[in-house]
Amino acid sequence: MMADNENKDPLIAWLPELLMTGGRFAPGQALVCDSSGRIVKLARVDELQGEKRIILPGRALLPGMVNAHSHAFQRVLRGRTEYRTGPSDSFWTWREMMYSAATRLTPEDVYDASRLTFLEMALNGITSVGEFHYLHHAPDGTPYDDPNLLAKEVVRAAGDVGIRIALLRVAYARSGFQVEQNPQQARFLEIDPDVYFKNLEGLSADVTRANSATVREDPSSRAESGALAHGRATAPSPAWVGVAPHSVRAVPIEYLREVISYANQHELKVHMHVAEQPAEVSACIEEYGRTPVAMLATEGILSERFTAVHAIHVTPKAIPSFAETGAMVCACPTTERNLGDGVVPADEYFKHKVPICLGTDSHAQIDLLEDARELEYHLRLQRLERAVLSVARPTESESPAVSSSSGALPHGRPSDTAAALFDCATKSGARSIGSPGGSLEPGQAADFFTVALDDPSISGASSDDLLSRIVFSLSRAAVREVVVGGRPIVSEGRHLIQEEVVERFNELQQKLWS
Ligand SMILES: [Zn+2]
Repeated sequence: MMADNENKDPLIAWLPELLMTGGRFAPGQALVCDSSGRIVKLARVDELQGEKRIILPGRALLPGMVNAHSHAFQRVLRGRTEYRTGPSDSFWTWREMMYSAATRLTPEDVYDASRLTFLEMALNGITSVGEFHYLHHAPDGTPYDDPNLLAKEVVRAAGDVGIRIALLRVAYARSGFQVEQNPQQARFLEIDPDVYFKNLEGLSADVTRANSATVREDPSSRAESGALAHGRATAPSPAWVGVAPHSVRAVPIEYLREVISYANQHELKVHMHVAEQPAEVSACIEEYGRTPVAMLATEGILSERFTAVHAIHVTPKAIPSFAETGAMVCACPTTERNLGDGVVPADEYFKHKVPICLGTDSHAQIDLLEDARELEYHLRLQRLERAVLSVARPTESESPAVSSSSGALPHGRPSDTAAALFDCATKSGARSIGSPGGSLEPGQAADFFTVALDDPSISGASSDDLLSRIVFSLSRAAVREVVVGGRPIVSEGRHLIQEEVVERFNELQQKLWS
């Protein structure tokens, strides 16, 4: 007998060797998706009926990762800033080099750079990105005829690669407290909050319209920007908007209050750079008599829709205010180490149950699992300890210590550190940017990736230590299939439009630097 759905929209059953469910890997399980791109159920293989089967021998299947903080265009700088420009180099000298690239990109260049960046993300198993977008105008600061031209080029790039995008549109009003305006920031500026809101609304309307052109709508559900539609047959959104007041440096308090009030009214996600550099903290104390986090807390700006990007230079007193308000932190360890920013006190955040998501930020490297492991490794170097983020602390009598008389190593014990770090790369990221996906559960978006179990970087794993091997040592070469909304975008480790994207990016690099 045929299943009812077989003629029209057959369900698809993905059958990997191991499927990650409830934080563990199980054999003999299928992930069943419908034609709208949602997960219908996880089922035992012997329970399947008329589903179309896609068999993936030798693969483990995991939820797609969410990259919560990106400046896609900065990918053009990779490898070009790794030298000393004066007596000492820092975030601030790097920023001048970044600005000089930012001022030269045409709209088409922004598209080509973004497409390569998102392609590299897809090849790493990333299925959603939060793009912190501040390039708004022509290089001399004149708005384009369409004031959202560049934002839309970035959204188009994500759509062409096939990953989801939260376009976090940046509000940027000044160089800093009592700082002369920097002409290299002319492309970012919207000094009047009303102009910012008008452009944000224009972008939101355009993104919603573009979504409905590509997504099959369920007439019974609404699909508003910023609020994801969860109708039964409605496909999860490929793109949506959020707000991003750039930093306490670039957005004065009155402007910031307006942005937050708008975000509250429209239930939009709010991302903001917070305490990345000590100089930003001291300037904030000078202007407001408070640290950035104290200022955000006392102004009522922290909320469960708020993500503080970096949040490195914070006092122990500041951390509970994240916990009390439900605000999150986005750590970007590969960029933070590249720029010499400092170390995110992730152990303190975890102690207070503040969720941490991850971003590849400047794209000095794009490998979200590297960011995950660095979150832990930076603390090991600082604290001279191992497993700093582990919450399980066995007592001496329970401890399967290596010093026991048998000398045997503990085995069969899953790593809670790896599980916590993988949650940062998936669930917490999805929550931070309001993305579908992040876990493999019925009703969720069918966003996932597979790894080859025979890849040398993870081979020999048992189901207990597989996640730990993936988090601490997976090579990108092991990522084989990447699927967004049930649609494969990477097969056998290759993206469908990889050659063309790389070729166009090579041409852009030639144009920019030779
Ligand atoms: Zn950033």
